Amino acid sequence: MLSDSFDRKFFYLRLSLTDVCNFKCDYCLPDGYHCETPHANLSLSEIELLARCFAKLGTNKIRLTGGEPSLRKDLVEVMQICSQTEGIKQLAMTTNGFKLASHAKRWKEAGLSHVNVSVDSLDPRQFELITGTKTFSKVMRGVDEALNQGFEAVKLNAVLIKHMAETNFIKYLEWIKHRPVEVRFIELMQMGDHPEYFEQHHIAGDGFKTLLLRQGWEQQIRAHNAGPAQVFHHPDYAGKIGLIMPYSNDFCASCNRLRISSLGKLHLCLFGEEGVDLRDLLSNSAQQDQLMQRIETALQTKKVSHFLHDGNTGATPHLASIGG
Ligand code: SAM
Ligand code: SF4
Repeated sequence: MLSDSFDRKFFYLRLSLTDVCNFKCDYCLPDGYHCETPHANLSLSEIELLARCFAKLGTNKIRLTGGEPSLRKDLVEVMQICSQTEGIKQLAMTTNGFKLASHAKRWKEAGLSHVNVSVDSLDPRQFELITGTKTFSKVMRGVDEALNQGFEAVKLNAVLIKHMAETNFIKYLEWIKHRPVEVRFIELMQMGDHPEYFEQHHIAGDGFKTLLLRQGWEQQIRAHNAGPAQVFHHPDYAGKIGLIMPYSNDFCASCNRLRISSLGKLHLCLFGEEGVDLRDLLSNSAQQDQLMQRIETALQTKKVSHFLHDGNTGATPHLASIGG
């Protein structure tokens, strides 16, 4: 079992498959993806070894992310490897939904059980302004197809962006009235690359929590391998609301997740420093014990909290770089 020096336990691995993305979200890659230095992403055999080692260390949930994970040509193989690893009970993916409509069936067959689709606005024009793409209908067809396929959970991610947060929140409440979807509102986080965007657009999530509680929503108890959201349900709604509030005081106390970048670095925190390189131990499965040892040792250096409140975003230029 992986645990750190503050007795937090780590059951959940977020594995970035690529830093490449085909969208230009305002808060992430506003100018689109640019390759600074050519690099090789983790190969299938490296992913297999990582999944096996983390599972041996107690991980039971893997989330595939990026960049845009669906741009990996061998994604189905990655899914098969992760879902068939002994000990992995849940395989999730966060995606911009670009390929969901056409691939949901194959992904489900490959072992994907949970899908999070990023849909920052239900208004097609606003969606286009945020993502820099005219893909709203396509993405929403993907959400419908994922629901048809019967994944264990289909969730939507929406970043809280100040000027549209309130209208968006109300629209989403209507939208989940009859749809069994959890919509998770994520507080905008400050990233190294564009601090001014954060200054202009950040809005705290706690006002929305107060609103929900006032309207009779109840907060759910969190599972040991659950993500960072506070989740709320209401008897009159088929769907749920999640709030991810990294700026709230106790956010880091319940941290249960680690990240591996597409270059094979272990990141103990989204806002940590350079990451611990594991790549030299990934080419040969005979080095499995050494790899597990390195992961366990690194975890002892995990800090009690991020330092976002002090405006310290660590070495992360944007979330696409290490996997959001
Ligand atoms: N490309 C995929 C997608 O957008 O779903 C997966 C990677 S993306 C980095 C993962 C999640 O991080 C998305 O839901 C995105 O909205 C969120 N995200 C990216 N930058 C963010 C920021 N600065 N603050 C809060 N959430 C952010
Ligand atoms: Fe791409 Fe996801 Fe970043 Fe948007 S949030 S630019 S879809 S990686």
